[in-house]
Amino acid sequence: MLLQITEPNSSLVQEKLSQALAIGIDLGTTNSVVAFSENQRPKALADALGECLVPSVVAYLEGAPIVGEKAVDLVDEVPDQVVTSSKRLMGRSSAEAQNISGKFTHIISDQQSPDTMVRLKVGNEVKTPVEVAADILRTLKNQAESALNQSVERAVITVPAYFDEAARQATKDAAALAGLKVLRLINEPTAAALAYGLNQGIEGVYAVYDLGGGTFDISLLRLTKGVFQVLATGGDAALGGDDIDRLVVEYFHHLSPEVTLTPALYKQALKTMRFTKEYLSHQDQGMWALPGGKEHPLDRFTLEQLSTPLVEKTIDICRQVLIDAHLTPKDIKGVVLVGGATRMPLIQGRVIEFFGQDPLMNLDPDKVVALGAALQAEALTKGAETLLLDVTPLSLGLETMGGLVEKIIHRNTPIPATFSQEFTTYQDGQTAMKIHVLQGERELVDHCRSLAEFTLTGIPPMVAGAARIVITFMVDSDGLLTVSATEKTTNTHQEVAVKPSYGLTEEDYRRILAENANQGAADIKSRLLIETKVKAQQLLHQLEEAIKVDGDLLTTVELESLAKAMEALEQRLTDTDQVAIVERKKTLESISVPFATRRVKRLVGEAANVPLPSEK
Ligand code: AMP
Repeated sequence: MLLQITEPNSSLVQEKLSQALAIGIDLGTTNSVVAFSENQRPKALADALGECLVPSVVAYLEGAPIVGEKAVDLVDEVPDQVVTSSKRLMGRSSAEAQNISGKFTHIISDQQSPDTMVRLKVGNEVKTPVEVAADILRTLKNQAESALNQSVERAVITVPAYFDEAARQATKDAAALAGLKVLRLINEPTAAALAYGLNQGIEGVYAVYDLGGGTFDISLLRLTKGVFQVLATGGDAALGGDDIDRLVVEYFHHLSPEVTLTPALYKQALKTMRFTKEYLSHQDQGMWALPGGKEHPLDRFTLEQLSTPLVEKTIDICRQVLIDAHLTPKDIKGVVLVGGATRMPLIQGRVIEFFGQDPLMNLDPDKVVALGAALQAEALTKGAETLLLDVTPLSLGLETMGGLVEKIIHRNTPIPATFSQEFTTYQDGQTAMKIHVLQGERELVDHCRSLAEFTLTGIPPMVAGAARIVITFMVDSDGLLTVSATEKTTNTHQEVAVKPSYGLTEEDYRRILAENANQGAADIKSRLLIETKVKAQQLLHQLEEAIKVDGDLLTTVELESLAKAMEALEQRLTDTDQVAIVERKKTLESISVPFATRRVKRLVGEAANVPLPSEK
């Protein structure tokens, strides 16, 4: 059996009925791969030329978009008409896109509506990253249909673990445009772990080390009962195998300064260097010619010496991620290698040394993510009895009084998930309630990310605390959130699908996880302080109202001492001394006990006229 967990509320029955097949897609930043699995044997599907790797590059000339290797060939000729690395813009607003590192010369600056989806000017056309992704997905779909000789309408697509709601939704939208129904979006490192069947292995923490052409990612996954949770991620969006090519070209150019490297020659030099580097993963010696004719012998030893600082950078990131997760290399049950650059013996050796074990690397590191996605697609299509569960990457919650966040669905909760909680009104006669949905690990609204805001109206006017409002958070199997609010006595209902127009960047996601680890104690302190203040304010408010209505139940002296205690508490409310507030609140509560007793008696009609105690 492939997967080990029975998913609650899954649409298994419906999926069981359909015999239509589904593919797995790794929609990568540099390259994309489509794969198909039958009898739990996944394989990557090649194009007519036998190539499995489709560069994630699209050229928009006259006519249909050109995707893949042919588009790469056009980058130099018509750079304005070719889009590369657009995955980094998925789910980003136009304002955010400006801050993403790397050069996206196509971005249209939109000052008027900075919160709308970023748009790119490509030749004479305007494209969103979603449309570019749709063109790549359409190519992969066609490639799969030719290879399988059948129509394909369903897919499991992988996304980086740090992709937020907006980027996930953008990926789904792109699939829909390409005519693909997404059975599920799964995290890339999870897919790699699945390809190696780790979900059937021993429970524990696994590391996925992914070094591609331009990016490095390290993910720590915890496997518990067949469920992978993302414990921590780290990486560098501008560090990869291509940097090694640059380093070596520049080194040799330094040795032969008489050769003039024009931009075109430099590009050509990088291309040949890349081949030489890849050759040296299998051979000890190579020959490399700098454009201009100068030949240099290049051996593996020199290549490795030049590459070492870069490889060490990845190891430093691994070390930091382990520290953030409070783990050591000894705690890691297994290591998976992903990405073309992990074919370098130097990298494999360094990973073995750091983690103290041989990594899993017998599958093609360029295809392993797509293979895992294909296995998952097969499991979902063939109605395997058990299904993989993914988890929410960050906690989801609501704003409550005092700017606090009440977490409704905690980080790493297996999805799909539905959680409800009851809330009530704060003020007498309150007929509307603002519902502010937040994402993040911190305790205060200001430290979390706002996802959506809506107002539940039509709450019947009641005394504070009497209304019963059930708020439900539902995260579907793709990690997309719907929030609904229902007032129980009237059944007033409101619902929003949370689709923020902007999203978290990869750096933000990592920062949130790291801050959570560092700020936990301080946050809890702030939370306690705010909660205490909110309760104190509530008490003061209730007493003020009670005095207005039933003040005649108090003697002048009692009223005076009550007012004094109220003032004393009020003065403390701007303080950060939680203990002092608690103390004054307690004093006030004990002073107000006789008043409360008399009010209750009056209320239940035990005495229409409760006599005042005699003043002493
Ligand atoms: P990816 O983005 O995963 O396709 O990885 C691409 C990177 O892997 C490029 O920098 C390639 O030069 C590098 N790469 C591919 N094959 C090898 C190899 N055999 N040895 C070293 N690097 C390789």
